[in-house]
Amino acid sequence: MSPTYQRRRTRQIQVGTVPVGGDAPISIQSMTITKTADVDGTLAQIYALAGAGCDIVRCTCNEPEAAEGLARIVPRSPLPVVADIHFQYKLALAALDAGVHQLRLNPGNIRKPEHIKLVASEARDRGISCRIGVNAGSLDPELYERFGGPTAAAMVESAKKEIGYFEEVGYDLIEISVKSSNVAVMIEAYRQLADVTDHPLHLGVTEAGPIPQGLVKATAGIATLLAEGIGDTIRYSLTADPAEEARAGRQLLESMGLRERRGLDLIACPSCGRAEIDVIAVADAAQRALDGLNLPIQVAVMGCVVNGPGEARSADIGIAAGRKRGHLFIKGEVVRVVPEDAMVDELVRLAQLYVKDGPEAALAQADPTAAAEAEADRAALLDDRGADANASEERVELIRKRVQT
Ligand code: SF4
Repeated sequence: MSPTYQRRRTRQIQVGTVPVGGDAPISIQSMTITKTADVDGTLAQIYALAGAGCDIVRCTCNEPEAAEGLARIVPRSPLPVVADIHFQYKLALAALDAGVHQLRLNPGNIRKPEHIKLVASEARDRGISCRIGVNAGSLDPELYERFGGPTAAAMVESAKKEIGYFEEVGYDLIEISVKSSNVAVMIEAYRQLADVTDHPLHLGVTEAGPIPQGLVKATAGIATLLAEGIGDTIRYSLTADPAEEARAGRQLLESMGLRERRGLDLIACPSCGRAEIDVIAVADAAQRALDGLNLPIQVAVMGCVVNGPGEARSADIGIAAGRKRGHLFIKGEVVRVVPEDAMVDELVRLAQLYVKDGPEAALAQADPTAAAEAEADRAALLDDRGADANASEERVELIRKRVQT
């Protein structure tokens, strides 16, 4: 049996449905690199991240259009969404209006205590957690001066100062990071931080760089701390496709015995106002039917045909529900439309064919009428429910008012 690491005791917070800290599994985070206002592009990246093993995704909220994008992304995202806030506290408030699951605040960028406390109060009232994300490259100049540079102690001091503001308004749903691109400084900063707080810690080596050296640097910092029992959630900051960050995080945790190995990768949408089926029940049925077949593929179960095949186009194979029929797709392309009660069986058949003979052979079995039938179902559902089944536009109006005041 492998040895285990004695994990430091931390409080537990929630990032949407994902617990962080306490005895929760160490979670994997990454960040989209699309413009957040590009809703479809960002969602496609989030689905790819989910498929690569990511648990929590962060999106920049750097302009009002990004906050509006978040209002449309959050209800359709398969992962909890963290809004990355830079300089404008109003965008933090707007991100809360958009329904995000966590805010990431950089103490070096939002410095006025009254602004920090206002954001913390709103997050507190909504029960939404915040990450205090200290970064060596954007340390408060006063601390930089006092400590003679972005030292480990300076970053820890920055985090403590920010925690103090949060505590003044009775808010403690806090996760903390103290990232540096210098691995030794990063390790020392987290060690010092672990001595003075029991808030959950988010580990990362910032700006680790391209693969492979970025992987090595990030692993050196993150793995060292994990082996000491420090760290509740991790992010590889690579100059690469974000899915590589998630894969690296997953592989590190699996290789250290901190997360279970994965067989079949079944992803499912979280369901939302558009869902045409009980996504959980169908996902369970698909999981049961596919379990034990040892198919090394990613299979998606999506609640609706309006967005499902597009959102899960990175999956090898999938089903989406529409008007009592199941749409089966391979790499986002609809290949068959079957009655709802036959869709799981058909999914298994196609999945086996896909693995045995390859994607081309499975695609070659596409029903020539499937695409047209799928488009007809999709159009009918759009007619039924309109384009805003998740009331995202109402939230956007709220955000616009918030940012303008
Ligand atoms: Fe996306 Fe449709 Fe699922 Fe809603 S029901 S999350 S729009 S696939």
